[in-house]
Amino acid sequence: MFPEHLPHHLFKSEFFAFGCRIGTLKLALMSGAKIFYSPDYYADIGEGHVFPIKKFELARDILVAEGTVGPDSVVSPVSADRQDVLRVHTDDYISRLCSGDLTAKEIRRLGLPWSEALVRRSFLAVSGTISAAFSAVRGSVGSNLAGGTHHSYPDRGEGFCVLNDVAIAIEKLRREGVSKRFLIIDLDVHQGDGTAFIYREDDSVFTFSMHGEKNYPLHKEISSLDIELGDGTRDEEYLGLLDQALPRIFTHEPDIVFYLAGADPYVNDKLGRLALTVQGLSARDEMVLRFARNAGIPIVTVMSGGYAADIRDTVEIHCNTIRAVKRVFHDNFAKQMPEGATA
Ligand SMILES: [Zn+2]
Repeated sequence: MFPEHLPHHLFKSEFFAFGCRIGTLKLALMSGAKIFYSPDYYADIGEGHVFPIKKFELARDILVAEGTVGPDSVVSPVSADRQDVLRVHTDDYISRLCSGDLTAKEIRRLGLPWSEALVRRSFLAVSGTISAAFSAVRGSVGSNLAGGTHHSYPDRGEGFCVLNDVAIAIEKLRREGVSKRFLIIDLDVHQGDGTAFIYREDDSVFTFSMHGEKNYPLHKEISSLDIELGDGTRDEEYLGLLDQALPRIFTHEPDIVFYLAGADPYVNDKLGRLALTVQGLSARDEMVLRFARNAGIPIVTVMSGGYAADIRDTVEIHCNTIRAVKRVFHDNFAKQMPEGATA
């Protein structure tokens, strides 16, 4: 629990001290909540950066304003414990990440400027996914309004992904004896290479990635199942392939599903190369969620990427994921767990 390797200036910060002090209480505090979000998911990465870091707050604001989620159902995670992160990432990487000692080359590969706020948001987003996972185990579904940072490898960040939140959450569930078999449905337009690498020799985790064949990353890993899509793939073909894949991947018999609902297969995405519509992506979300619900398997939704020319499109696609959660699972947002329920 004690972050003995953290650099002094970060250990002294309220962020780490708070996270360590009440870390063991955080799951109890989140009983019944389904949506995890923190204002500190935002970090200043400079004006004009292609990564739309304001999307988290914008999505939360819309979902609350329209009543899709009640304000009381939006819960701020506290920072992830360092020991949870170290089940996936190397001590060397995490130590240098926290102290600001990444090399220029590492920061270039990450694609985001280093700052304490970036480290803070990365640990918080991991915690959001862990919390959403425990929420799903209790109540069928849980959502993090961030996460899905699937390009992160054990020893490095890549492609705007600092920490691999889904892998860290999986290892936390495994450690706590909550779940033994896992399915990752990665529908971000870019291959989930970091996650595929982490689980390349682990049969308990099925990694499914449907992504652009010619898109980033140049070097692709081998997932349990990869479906590669040609440039310009449209709704009908995409949804047909997904419809065929779902029964196949669920034969893995997972205890829990992690769904990376990337917004970047969208036709007007700057980094996407595919041609899905907003409606097509919403149908995609609903298809995945209904399949999990009908199979009786808890599902966790995380955001992943989205780089539409107009940020409002990216936000709308992410909001549609949560709207679909509400439709498919009815008003589970308001459902409360019994007193004394534990993770
Ligand atoms: Zn992506």
